[in-house]
Amino acid sequence: MRKPIIGGNWKMNRGTPKESKKMLESLILLVKGIKSVDIVICAPFTVLTTIYEILKNTNIKIGAQNMHFEEKGAYTGEISPTFLKDIGVEYVILGHSERRDIFNESDALINKKLKKALSMDLKPIVCIGEHLEEKEAGKTNDIIKYQINETFKNLTKEEILKTVIAYEPIWAIGTGKTATPEQAEEIHIFIRELLIRKFDKETANSIRIQYGGSIKPDNAEDLFNKRNIDGGLVGGASLESDSLFQIIKAADKTYK
Ligand code: PEP
Repeated sequence: MRKPIIGGNWKMNRGTPKESKKMLESLILLVKGIKSVDIVICAPFTVLTTIYEILKNTNIKIGAQNMHFEEKGAYTGEISPTFLKDIGVEYVILGHSERRDIFNESDALINKKLKKALSMDLKPIVCIGEHLEEKEAGKTNDIIKYQINETFKNLTKEEILKTVIAYEPIWAIGTGKTATPEQAEEIHIFIRELLIRKFDKETANSIRIQYGGSIKPDNAEDLFNKRNIDGGLVGGASLESDSLFQIIKAADKTYK
C-alpha cells in the first residue's frame, strides 16, 4: 500500500505572510482528520518560518521549492538545506520543470541536490517529464528513461524509497491541459518498470509516483483512481484552500 501524497506548489504566486496565513487557517480546518494522505505545502522560502508556526501540530507538512547542493559557502542568493532543516522544513521539490527550463538545471545538478537532501533527511519530491515537442515526436519514454537514469544516478535502495517522484508532463503544467488518466497511468507504469530494472520489484512497488499537470477538483479523482498514481503535485489549484481540499479529498477517497 502506498500512501498518496498531495503537494501544493505555490511557486511565486502566493507567499506574503498575510495571504498564506488566511489560506492555511482555512485549509487546516478542512483537512482536519484526514490521515490517509500526506499533505505538503511547498511555499516560497521567505514565508516558511511563518508557515511553520501556523502548521505545527497539524497534519500538513512543509516543503520548500528548491535548495542548494552544498550546506554552506560563497553562493550568493542560494538557500542551504541546513537552513531548511533548521526551520522545520520536511520536504523539498527538486528538478521542477521551471527550474530545469528557466534556470537551466541539469539532471547532474538535480542529482547532486537529491543526494544532499537525502543525506540531510529532507524528503525530496523529484520532478520529471517531457516537453510537448518531445511527446509529439514520440520521445516521451526516451526522455523519462534518461531522466530516471541521470537524476537517480548512484542512489541506494534506501535512498530511492525516501524519494517521491512527480511525473509532470511539461505540456500539462499551468496550461489547463491535463494528461488523461490513461495517458498518465501508462507513463507511471513505465516509470515503475524502469525502477524495477534499476532496483527491484519490491522497492519499485513501494515508491510513490505523483502526477502533476493541471490537476483540478474535477479531474483529480479519475487520475487518483489509477493504480500507479499516488497523489499529485498541484500548482494553480493549490492556491485556494477549497480547491486544494477537494483534491486532497479525492486522494483520500481513492486510497488503494
Ligand atoms: C506544478 O507546479 O508542478 C503544476 C503541476 O502546476 P499546475 O497544477 O498549475 O499545472
